[in-house]
Amino acid sequence: MKSGEAAVGAFRDRFGAMPDLLIRSPGRVNLIGEHTDYNDGFVLPLAIERALWIALRARPDDTVRMWSALGDQREEFSLSALSRGGGWAAYVQGVAYELLRAGKNLAGWEGTIVSNIPTGAGLSSSAALELGVARAFAEVSPFPWDPVEMAVISQRAENDWVGMNCGIMDQLICAAGRADRALLIDCRTLTWTPALLPPGAVVVVLDTSTRRELVDSAYNDRRRSCEEAASAFGVAALRDLDWATLEGGRERLSPTVFRRARHVVLENRRTLDMAATLNEGNLIAAGELMKASHASMRDDFEISSPALDAMTEAALGSPGCYGARMTGGGFGGSCVALVAADRAGGFETQTLERYERATGLEGTAIPTRPTEGTSAEEVLPTKG
Ligand code: ADP
Ligand code: MG
Repeated sequence: MKSGEAAVGAFRDRFGAMPDLLIRSPGRVNLIGEHTDYNDGFVLPLAIERALWIALRARPDDTVRMWSALGDQREEFSLSALSRGGGWAAYVQGVAYELLRAGKNLAGWEGTIVSNIPTGAGLSSSAALELGVARAFAEVSPFPWDPVEMAVISQRAENDWVGMNCGIMDQLICAAGRADRALLIDCRTLTWTPALLPPGAVVVVLDTSTRRELVDSAYNDRRRSCEEAASAFGVAALRDLDWATLEGGRERLSPTVFRRARHVVLENRRTLDMAATLNEGNLIAAGELMKASHASMRDDFEISSPALDAMTEAALGSPGCYGARMTGGGFGGSCVALVAADRAGGFETQTLERYERATGLEGTAIPTRPTEGTSAEEVLPTKG
């Protein structure tokens, strides 16, 4: 709640009045199913307790004025003159542009943004910003909140305005997250089934404090390999390929492209299995799937890093850990661990100690249960 209160406080300081609305837009972590989304496959993310908050009120004109505590930055633009600038304004103007293109009538607003989602850590602060902004427009314009439509619009904004060729997962889980549940999302149909995280478990995000750099090219390269493999087998996407077919036809692919495809095909299988094991309450089996996923990303898809490997090993050696793996796009950022709730404190201390001993780096542990997706509440006037 702290960041929500901070957003309201910042609004009062800047605009001299109470805001009308407070929006919460969560970060996310993916339990399993990495680089499967743009292959029309399956992912199993959850919305986390860390979130981006926007305190706002509607404006009578078509101006959007925002201030973000991140870097103490202001942005202002007119809905009738959107322009492709850089920085965080690109996310916001991109969402506005795509909403307009989808036929929404937009009203202006002014607001303050405070977030406790670390940026670039693989927790998708960018999707939280996009969906938070989409929600702001939905409330003030107004138009109904359709999580799938808003996720697709936000994804387009990130693809076309920011130039990040991301899949749909981040935006969809941010828009549609459920308390206590991860969502098994089918990235082809954009439908999902909830998977209950057993009450005895917590998810611990382990930020390595390393950040990915210059990875757009690596990401695009992986995507190209996946497309190449799919077309070599005459399928629309790797989602349509099973392991027996891929293995049987491996000579159609270069060794590198074969390994990329193997990761995606087996990762899809693991993701489906993981949702089933969680629903059965089988945390041990779930942990094993996470370990296999990490090895596949390290050896076949080659998107891990020494820091991500060290953090995963540190977690697996600490008490209460069922399983751990790197999460997100790769090359830096965070790992995710599945941990017994009553042992989380000791797990975090030991994991970070081991990690520091191995790398000399200071990591951060963020324990969480799954939370609701982007939401809006009215701000009631306070007394005095
Ligand atoms: P990730 O989504 O993994 O956190 P990205 O590089 O995709 O990392 O997105 C981070 C970018 O999103 C930041 O550089 C900034 O432009 C924007 N952003 C995220 N949170 C905020 C915020 N609270 N205020 C302003 N911009 C933000
Ligand atoms: Mg992002």
